[in-house]
Amino acid sequence: MTTTAVNSYKALTDDSAIALARTLDFFPEGAKLESQEIGDGNLNYVFRITDSESGKGLIIKQALPYAKVVGESWPLTLKRATIEANALRKHGEFVPGLVPVVYATDANLALTVMEDLSHLTIAREGLIRGEAYPNLSKDIGEYLAKTLFQTSDFALHPFEKKRLAAEFSNPELCKITEDLVFTDPFFDFETNDFEPELRAEVEAIWNNGPLKLEAAKLKKSFLTDAEALLHGDLHTGSIFASDTETKVIDSEFAFYGPIGFDVGLFLANLIAQAVTREGEKREVVLHHIEQTWNVFSSNFSELWEQQGIEAFKDTAGYKEFVLEKIFQDAIGFAGCELIRRTIGLAHVKDLDSIEELERRIALKKQVLQTGEALILKRKELPSIAAVVALVEEQS
Ligand code: ADP
Ligand code: MG
Ligand code: MG
Ligand code: MG
Repeated sequence: MTTTAVNSYKALTDDSAIALARTLDFFPEGAKLESQEIGDGNLNYVFRITDSESGKGLIIKQALPYAKVVGESWPLTLKRATIEANALRKHGEFVPGLVPVVYATDANLALTVMEDLSHLTIAREGLIRGEAYPNLSKDIGEYLAKTLFQTSDFALHPFEKKRLAAEFSNPELCKITEDLVFTDPFFDFETNDFEPELRAEVEAIWNNGPLKLEAAKLKKSFLTDAEALLHGDLHTGSIFASDTETKVIDSEFAFYGPIGFDVGLFLANLIAQAVTREGEKREVVLHHIEQTWNVFSSNFSELWEQQGIEAFKDTAGYKEFVLEKIFQDAIGFAGCELIRRTIGLAHVKDLDSIEELERRIALKKQVLQTGEALILKRKELPSIAAVVALVEEQS
């Protein structure tokens, strides 16, 4: 189904969201509908519409024409709503159980109507409370392998791949990542945000020539390696989870980029969670880190053998070369993500919610060191187990 609206853009209200929901073939006629805006309000509205009798619900996400950042607003393309919906659908072709169903879209209103996942919890929130989410890394490893392999030149005809790369051209959202992940944290930019107790460490980063050189190489890879249709923002706040289910949402940053970026972003967010834990609870997250890579690489390998384009498949050693590049990229991108989530504009709650100042600062220093080591040593680390050992060494 598609919505019938032909209006030009207008921000939804609870009332107009309910009216829109009634035009879809979803709720019974005359249903008593309620609306609640549940988004965090920086870039997008998220309305949850529920039928008070059956409890049945749906989600209407609407992009706002601006982003509210550091008290200011800057214009931001509404096209990202179409990118998000189309990426959910494209990825859903390969992992239908790991993304929400998209019921309807409206490009003019910049909205996506999708499955209500309110029975699940945002993984970051649950992990901070100490949840284990036993399926998380198995599911995300599979999500990464299938979505990335199947949208790459290793699986697609080059015409189809380039058609998709053009469809998912997303320059404005990419620019946010280019600045906030790869540039600003490595220079004295006013968007950076860190506790005064970290100033010496931060200045050391700004003065670390070899580190900045490696970050520039990683940025160039992000800018130019159009390898696969990425999610583009795969942190633990973009994942709904429970003990049995995993669903990836919020793909408005989707574009054709380096495969290791999605992998690395997820790994970094697991690392930022692992360092806050101790004992067995930490082991659970360290295991997720290893398992994500192991499941990703074995699924990717299997797809390569079973469905890969012949000329690549039949070239001895090429699959190993590709997986090695993805691994090294992922580790480098993870390092950049750790640094920017500690001293850049957008932090992670895993670290910021630690109330005791001394402990928070100690952990942030540790995360910065880990991030630096991952960037600098990404080509020497022989395995994901060595990455986990490095995380452990820093603590
Ligand atoms: P943004 O791009 O603004 O970060 P998200 O897509 O991450 O928006 O959604 C913001 C919040 O809205 C999520 O953290 C979640 O609480 C809620 N939400 C988003 N999509 C759904 C959904 N399909 N079902 C239930 N809640 C959702
Ligand atoms: Mg709200
Ligand atoms: Mg989000
Ligand atoms: Mg988003």
